[in-house]
Formats: sequence, structure tokens, C-alpha cells
Amino acid sequence: MRKILIRFDDICPTMNFEEFDKAIDLMDELDIKPLIGVIPKCEDDILKIDAPKRDFWEYVRNLEKKGYTIAMHGYKHVYDSNKHGMANASNRSEFAGHSFAVQYMKVKKGKEILETKGIHTSIFFAPSHSYDKTTLKVLSKCGFKYISDGMSRVPIERYGIVCIPCRTGGIPVMKRDGDYTAVFHAHEWGMDSKNSSYEEFEQFCRTNKMEICTFDIFCKQKVSKKIWDKIDERIYVIFQCRIRPILSKIKHKIV
Ligand SMILES: [Zn+2]
Repeated sequence: MRKILIRFDDICPTMNFEEFDKAIDLMDELDIKPLIGVIPKCEDDILKIDAPKRDFWEYVRNLEKKGYTIAMHGYKHVYDSNKHGMANASNRSEFAGHSFAVQYMKVKKGKEILETKGIHTSIFFAPSHSYDKTTLKVLSKCGFKYISDGMSRVPIERYGIVCIPCRTGGIPVMKRDGDYTAVFHAHEWGMDSKNSSYEEFEQFCRTNKMEICTFDIFCKQKVSKKIWDKIDERIYVIFQCRIRPILSKIKHKIV
């Protein structure tokens, strides 16, 4: 049996609403309820596409009423650390590498902003999948329960946070069985520099609609207590993020 979660990142007042609203129309038609990552106080210039939406928070609350699940996606979505996280490759992060005090301030303020807008969530995922052990400890202290992130094969618990794996930043390669998170960024559709499009999203949803479920169902996966699954994640991260890029460079030189 296979279960698929649809995840949309980078929901903020200045995102590309034309593209995201197209996705909403399709998901309405197919009765798909995604997990959406809302940035509490977006200051990322790349995401300043539309003029700030005046009724943005009402828009988000209406999506929640429709059955969408809301996650907190970072704080300002600004990379101010050059450390890589525990489960990603890039050396840019809003969280990894920062002290407990700095990360606590960001998570606490982000959560407060959402709550003043009437949005209560226990789910988090960081920009660029970049978080470290301190992030997880901070999230636990701030009352979060889940992150939609990590490279493990199955959900594992770290520092009181259930890490529901998200092994790719886009459409996953899927076997017949298993649980998969498919990640989409509507503002990237149609960008020459990005290899993604609305058509690809539509095809994925239509092909797999019977297996797409809500976060409430998706998070019911058994959480592994086995130490091996944590070690297995470390090995996978080292291979994907450290060894594979080196092998790929060598291959390019030879060819
Ligand atoms: Zn993001």
C-alpha cells in the first residue's frame, strides 16, 4: 500500500497567487487536502512576487477550514547561517548553526505571529530542509510535535519531535508500497531556472489521486524506536549529501 502527502512550501502574502490558485482549483476538483507551509514573517526577496495580499491571513484560515493542514515554514525565510543542517546538503540555513537562544527566538516569534492570526499548528519544516539538533530541541520546547523533514526511511523521533521523512525537494521516485511526500513550490512554475511546472503537478495529482491523503492520515505512520533507523538516516545523508556530489564530479571529469 502506498500513501502520498502533497506539500506546498513558501506560502506568504507576496507569493505568486495566480499559480497557487490554479493548484487550489485542481485540488478542489480532485478533493486533495495538502500540507501547506506558511512563513510567519516573510522577508525573502525571492518570494516578493505579488503585491502584499491584504486579506492573506483570512485566505490561510479559509484554506484551513477547507481541510488543508497548516505548518509553520521557518520564521522570515532568510538564510543567515552558512552551516548545513543534519539532513541536507546546502550551506545556507535560517536555523542550523545558530545558538539555542537565537533559534528559540525565531521559533517562538514565528509561532506567536501565527497564533495572533488565529493559526495554531504543531507542525514545522525549515527553509531548504535545513535544521539541526538544536532546532529540534527548540521546537519541542515551543510545543511542536512534527517536522515534515528528514532523510530516514520511516518516521523517527528525535528530542520529542516526530520527523516524518521528506527525502526529496520535489516529486519523489516511488515504489508500489511506502509513504511519500511530494513537495511543490508554485512560484517556481514556469521559471526557466527551475525544472518544474503546473502541468507536472497536475499530472502527478491525477495519476496518484487515489493514494493522496491528508496530513492527519499521513502522520499516523508507525514511529520507529530502532536506533538502526537513526544510523541508517546518517549513512543515507552522508552518501547523498557528501559522497554522491564527489562521485558526480569525478564522473563528469572522466566523461
Ligand atoms: Zn521555503
